[in-house]
Amino acid sequence: MTAQKITMGPAGLNIPDHPIIPFIEGDGIGPDVWSASKHVLDAAIELVYGGKRKIEWKEILAGEKAFNKTGEWLPAESLDIAREYLVSIKGPLTTPVGGGIRSLNVALRQELDLYVCLRPVKWYKGVPSPVVHPENTNMVIFRENTEDIYAGIEFGYNTPEAEKLLRFLTDELGAGKKIRFPESTAFGIKPVSKDGSERLIRAAIKYALEHKLPSVTLVHKGNIMKYTEGAFKIWGYELAEREFADHVYTWGQWENAKKTQGEDVANAKMKKAEAQGKLIIKDVIADNFLQQLLLSPKDYSVVATLNLNGDYISDAAAASVGGIGIAPGANINYLTGHAVFEATHGTAPRFANTNTMNPSSLLLSGVMMLEYMGWHEAAQCIEEALATTIKRKRVTIDFYNLMHDATLLKTSEFAVEIVKSMKI
Ligand code: NAD
Repeated sequence: MTAQKITMGPAGLNIPDHPIIPFIEGDGIGPDVWSASKHVLDAAIELVYGGKRKIEWKEILAGEKAFNKTGEWLPAESLDIAREYLVSIKGPLTTPVGGGIRSLNVALRQELDLYVCLRPVKWYKGVPSPVVHPENTNMVIFRENTEDIYAGIEFGYNTPEAEKLLRFLTDELGAGKKIRFPESTAFGIKPVSKDGSERLIRAAIKYALEHKLPSVTLVHKGNIMKYTEGAFKIWGYELAEREFADHVYTWGQWENAKKTQGEDVANAKMKKAEAQGKLIIKDVIADNFLQQLLLSPKDYSVVATLNLNGDYISDAAAASVGGIGIAPGANINYLTGHAVFEATHGTAPRFANTNTMNPSSLLLSGVMMLEYMGWHEAAQCIEEALATTIKRKRVTIDFYNLMHDATLLKTSEFAVEIVKSMKI
């Protein structure tokens, strides 16, 4: 069986039985959690497909390892390989202090235009959680990954750029009066586009329809930021009604029906749409949504939101189901097929090479990767074996500290335990 590249065709990804997948093992605890994750991924694929399928891993350099070997944090060759092979997986990377690159993760996302940051948030029985009913949280967050205040357009306090921008805002746009302390103000710009919002919301709706989920919630702060966050909501409703007319019912349609035909008719239409199994598109203001995450998480399945909201929401939601030690993530461009699956935690440098940290975040990112490749059987095998291992209370230090009567395992032992629990 010769190893081949994953390619993008007119009908989507072409996944060979022996694909070459680049990996970045990451800094700090990266090598420990990567080696455990790789062990489990390979074992599941071997068990489920009996040798018919196999991943050929190809290391690419990034982070401290790259810097020590090449003098560069993110060598151009690494980016070229990630671009060429489409699908890759990575451990956490140190954010270099000083120098040209603000964050290697942000650089990768921007270079490959990975416009969706996908974060499933789901509880596994037995995982210690601060909430009473963690099983009620089961949602998938689509965070816009390329725009918003994260675009990095900032001008510091007391700089000529800030001064120039202040003059422009005052003289050209008449907005000077809105700036409370003009002499000591720093500026950040928040670009949000119709194109960027639409491709993110389209991906979320397609995902919800493919997975037969009940709703997509547009989370925004449109009551305050009308032309960016507010427009995100409006563009979302318009897109849903235009491109998915036969499959969705939106709160925007409900509002219109209420205005023109009265509330009873509007409610009846909504009920009918639900009974027909239509996908409901709704919206919630971001601050309220953070409250709803704790009060009624059951009401949400797919969430589409802008970059900064998505950052807060992903971590807050992950906390309900066990935190960053177990929350997986992916950065995806559904149009080109490019995808980088990654642990959501950082490099935890204090614990580097201790073989003690939880590999679940990176492992479950690998499970997402298998799903993305259509290797659902192997993905399911790992998820079930991980759940069994946690239920048996055989866990790494983070969960051990929060459980009664648990058995403490090293990172590598946890991986061996997961493999032992695998069934087909
Ligand atoms: P961190 O996530 O590395 O660590 C915070 C704490 O979380 C740790 O001290 C540890 O107690 C816990 N933790 C993290 N991963 C865990 C795991 N797998 N199992 C159990 N517990 C775990 O965050 P930080 O200390 O703020 O950042 C350290 C470095 O990581 C910085 O250089 C930062 O820029 C980088 N970082 C990288 C990524 C990424 O590559 N995606 C994400 C966040 C931070």
